[in-house]
Formats: sequence, structure tokens, C-alpha cells
Amino acid sequence: MDTGHKDLHKNFIGGEWLAGAGVTRNINPSNTNDLVGEYTQADAAQAATAIAAARAAAPGWARSTPQARYDVLKKISDEILSRKDELGRLLAREEGKTLPEGIGEAARAGQIFAFFAGEALRLAGEKIASVRPGVDVEITREPMGVVGIITPWNFPIAIPAWKIAPALCYGNAVVFKPADLVPGSGHALAEIISRSGIPAGVFNLVMGRGSVVGEAFLTSKHVDAITFTGSVATGRKVAATCVSRMAKFQLEMGGKNPMVVLDDADLKVAVECAANGAFFSTGQRCTASSRLIVTEGIHDKFVAALSERMKGLLVDDALKAGTHIGPVVDKTQLEQNLSYIGIGRDEGARLALGGELINRENPGFYMSPALFVDATNAMRSSREEIFGPVASVIRVKNYDEALAVANDTEFGLSSGICTTSLKYASDFKRNAEAGMVMVNLATAGVDYHVPFGGRKGSSYGPREQGRYAAEFYTTVKTAYTLP
Ligand code: NAD
Repeated sequence: MDTGHKDLHKNFIGGEWLAGAGVTRNINPSNTNDLVGEYTQADAAQAATAIAAARAAAPGWARSTPQARYDVLKKISDEILSRKDELGRLLAREEGKTLPEGIGEAARAGQIFAFFAGEALRLAGEKIASVRPGVDVEITREPMGVVGIITPWNFPIAIPAWKIAPALCYGNAVVFKPADLVPGSGHALAEIISRSGIPAGVFNLVMGRGSVVGEAFLTSKHVDAITFTGSVATGRKVAATCVSRMAKFQLEMGGKNPMVVLDDADLKVAVECAANGAFFSTGQRCTASSRLIVTEGIHDKFVAALSERMKGLLVDDALKAGTHIGPVVDKTQLEQNLSYIGIGRDEGARLALGGELINRENPGFYMSPALFVDATNAMRSSREEIFGPVASVIRVKNYDEALAVANDTEFGLSSGICTTSLKYASDFKRNAEAGMVMVNLATAGVDYHVPFGGRKGSSYGPREQGRYAAEFYTTVKTAYTLP
């Protein structure tokens, strides 16, 4: 369908670029006068067309050789890495993270494709002795078939990469829906994939609304597995729908990640971990340190030093050199952040600094990073994910109380501790109820070749990334032979 929009960015379905039923405008949160581009929006019928294209292409790709998969994934990696500056700029412009953060994320996407290019050559099974005489037993991994990929707005290229790369590596066809707010990076990635030599239909980009395109993925009997990253509320819907039709699914959702600071911590390290973990990327990370749990001996020094550090953090246009923190992604998220500032105050937390709207040269969604002190772990501002540059300091007596408070949450994604004690570090690694534990490192910031994921309300299903990704993107077959 021709919508009449010049330079419309289209969906990629069955090897062709197609306009959908509507158009969305991708706006730069650092400057709302800047239109990043116009992107088509699929309706349910177009989503069904994409699913059918993936279904038709899946058997051929499942039979493709490791070499063919390596070649495609390596080519995608090479192009991403050679264009990382430009892709990082697009990402920073549409999402609002700073240019260095955007370039770093684009590079990470390239590295992920390189990792899974290698993994395609290392697909292995097992052959083991049977308990019955003369029988051979072989255990192999086969692709799931068609994988539906639904991603959030906060990592517009890395999260799509860490789902698309393993899906293709293990022989699946893909239907991919980027978040409505940030279709640009997903579209750029799809263009790169379209040039990789991948057969038509194996990879499909379907931009559009979650309630339309996402829902079409969830309900289609032709989509064998759904991998989802986003909010808890949407994750619950994904789970309920997938269970009702017995589809395999994997969920990565929110966090309320604790960073414990003990009396014996190196103060500089602790302040850096907190500033980075809580405020970089505008606090819009599922692994952000939103609860700073600090023992009483270091509490006042830590709050004073962190406040000083925060005063030096420049909030401005994501593309400007020297900006430390970009804008909030959109108006709705900004309003949510500010409403939690009100909630925290009403509950009795004291706003030590920040939490205010800021005006910059261009109209954008700017706020200063906010630090609550005198917070308790019972407050809503300490229990609910805000997803902005807002952190609460919770004072505790000792390590035991710190560990108890760190684990007293419905989430369990990432958990950190700053200490120079081997005893406390070891105990925390053992007892933190989280999928990832950091010692003297920010709770956010992970490697791309090892498992990523959480526990409790943060995650459901097998881990993502690294070799563990095979668990979700394949199904195991056990074959018995009596020669
Ligand atoms: P969201 O749940 O609003 O949207 C996520 C995706 O789901 C989007 O593509 C959206 O269009 C789609 N969607 C919405 N409604 C749907 C429906 N009914 N059916 C199918 N799909 C639907 O989340 P968001 O606001 O984009 O992202 C922020 C959230 O993501 C935060 O909670 C954050 O913690 C979480 N997140 C988690 C991780 C992790 O790995 N644990 C990583 C990044 C972000």
C-alpha cells in the first residue's frame, strides 16, 4: 500500500520491503522538533503475512549448513561493526542515550553476531551408550521453527541482536517486532540483515503496535516460540497467551536492583558504581541500581560524595559532546519519573538533590538525576520499577541487614556489592537472589558472551546470551538406533 509518505521506512517481509497500514513518527527526545523518520506500521493482516513467510522459509533454513549460517551472521556482524558510529548516532538520536553509549551499544550488537557466527560452526550433539545391548543413543538439538521476537525501547539494537543472532544461528526463521518508540535502529539492523545473503522469508521485520503486531505473534499457531523483553505487565500477557496455546516462551522484564555499600568499601569505587548504575543511560536500564543499601558507618560520607559526583553530571542533548546523561525517552516516561518523585516524598523519603525538569537549547524530555535519602525498603519508590534516573539510599546497620534488604524484592535481575572484604563478597555472591551478581562493579554493564537473565519477577524461562541461548532457540531430540 502506498501511504504517500516520502522516505517511508518499510517492513521487510518475505524478502521485500512493504508499506503497512499506518505510519508512526520517530521523534528525537533530545529535540522534539527533530523528526528521525517516518516508519510504517503493520496491521494484523500484514503480521500474518510475515508469519506465513517465516513459516514457509523455516524448513529450508533449518536444513542450512553451519557454513551458510556462519556466512550470514558474520556478514551482518562485519557491517554493523564497520558502521557502528553511524548506527550509534541513529540510536542516540531516537532513544536519547549519549553518543558514546549509542556507539558502544551498536558495537555490542556487532560482537553478538560475531559470537553466534562462531557458534553456528560449533553445533554439537551427544552420542552415548544405551542401557540396551547394541542400541545407539544420539541427542541432538533442532531449531524451534518460527521464533517471534518482541523487544523494548531501551536497547534498540543490542536486545534485537541478542535475540535475532541466536535464533538464526540455531536454524530458526524470525518475525521481529521492535518497540514502537524506537523503530529506527531495528529498521537499520533489518536493512543490514537483508543484505547478508539470508534467504527470503527467514528474517522478517514487522514494525507496529504491540497490541496489534505483538498480539498477532502471540496468538498465531504458526509461531513456535516467543522471546520477549519488556515490562512485567506485558510479560504477564505474553505468558498467559503462550501458555494457553502451549507455545514456548522466554521473558526478560523489570528490576529493582540493589547496590550494597559496606563500611569497608573503597568510597571512590562505590560512588562510581552508584553513579553509573543508577544514572547512566538516564537510568533506563533493567539492570539499573535503583536501591542503594548503605551501612551506617559509611552512609553520610557516601551520600555526600555521591551528591558531589551527581552535581558534575551534565544532562543535555544526547548527541552533544560532553553530555553524561541524555533525556528521558518520551513524555509518558518523564511523567512517570516525576510522579515517583512525588510518591517518594509523600512516603517520607527526603529528596537530597535532583528530580527536576530542566530546559536545554532545544525542547526535550530533560530531568536532573534524583537521589532520595532516608528511604525505607517498604516505600513504593523502593519497590516499584521507576525506569528513570532516580535512586533511593536505604540506611542499614550491617551486612546481614543489607543482604536481607537486597533480597526483599519481587525482582531478581542484578545485584551488586561494594566491599573490600573477601568474606562479604563471597557470601553475597552465594546468597544474593539474583541472576547476576556484581562485586565492586555497577549492577548494569554485562559481557555479551555469558548468560544474561534474572530470577523471581524479573525473568521467566531459559537464560539469554552466550552458549546458554541454545536452550531456548532449540528443542532436544533423543534418537535410538538398533543397527
Ligand atoms: P513494554 O512491555 O511496554 O513493551 C515491550 C514490547 O512489547 C514492545 O515491543 C511493545 O510494543 C510490545 N507489546 C506491548 N503490548 C503488547 C501486547 N499486548 N502483546 C505483545 N506485545 C506487546 O516495555 P517497554 O516500555 O518497551 O520497555 C521497558 C521495560 O523493559 C522495563 O520494565 C525494563 O525493565 C524492561 N527491560 C528488561 C530487560 C531485561 O533483560 N530484563 C532489558 C531491557 C528492558
